[in-house]
Amino acid sequence: MIVDSHCHLDRLDLTAHDGDLSKALLAARDNGVSHFLSVCVELSEFPELERIASGHPDISLSVGVHPNDTEMKVPETEELVKLALQDKVVAIGETGLDYYRLEGDEGRGDQQESFKRHIRAAVEVNKPLIIHTRHARNDTIDIMREENADKCRGVMHCFTEDWDMAEKALELGFYISISGIVTFKNAGDLRDIAKRVPMDRLLIETDSPYLAPMPHRGKTNEPAYVRYVADYMAELRGVTYEEIAKATTDNFFTLFSDARPAI
Ligand SMILES: [Zn+2]
Ligand SMILES: [Zn+2]
Repeated sequence: MIVDSHCHLDRLDLTAHDGDLSKALLAARDNGVSHFLSVCVELSEFPELERIASGHPDISLSVGVHPNDTEMKVPETEELVKLALQDKVVAIGETGLDYYRLEGDEGRGDQQESFKRHIRAAVEVNKPLIIHTRHARNDTIDIMREENADKCRGVMHCFTEDWDMAEKALELGFYISISGIVTFKNAGDLRDIAKRVPMDRLLIETDSPYLAPMPHRGKTNEPAYVRYVADYMAELRGVTYEEIAKATTDNFFTLFSDARPAI
């Protein structure tokens, strides 16, 4: 059994599944996926995420506003706390800093304020954070330290930064999640990191519908493909598929302790 620790179920391209999400979920379950964490990017989509998850004990949710979405609205901490207490919500995010898509320094202030509020909400409700970080290494770590993110911990999702940053996040009690990017030809640096992350801090994800792993690179991604990430990681680290599957699944339910494993 494996877990897709980060997907966007409301955004999948379902053309290959006759427009039917339940068929995409079935395809994933057939590939051994036992749990899905469907991640929130903007608060207005949360009701749709709840609708999708209802009746599926193997779908958990997060609540948060993506850093590149803060142009729309920086959420209030209280708003995040209120939603975080809803059924099925096991994490806060995705939040963080992404300077890659910003032009100049404009927008950084909003991202930073939003990130701080997410951390405060996570500490208050004691749920882990899902952190998205790109081209903002020092600021991300500084804010995590200032706001005591080590109290609630969380995951650096779809990690693509350097080992120095990974180490600092690990010191704060965070997990490192590896996406299908690790299978890309030009991802040598990421492969070095993916080999070094301690086995008890490793997670895997698709970030679907984005970033499909080889051999589907460039096409739409879906939770079933987390299997390719697990396969690749097993080969990369010289362990069996079962070992990667067990470690990343155990880690998932340890970190996201409100998510319930299938019996
Ligand atoms: Zn992200
Ligand atoms: Zn995402």
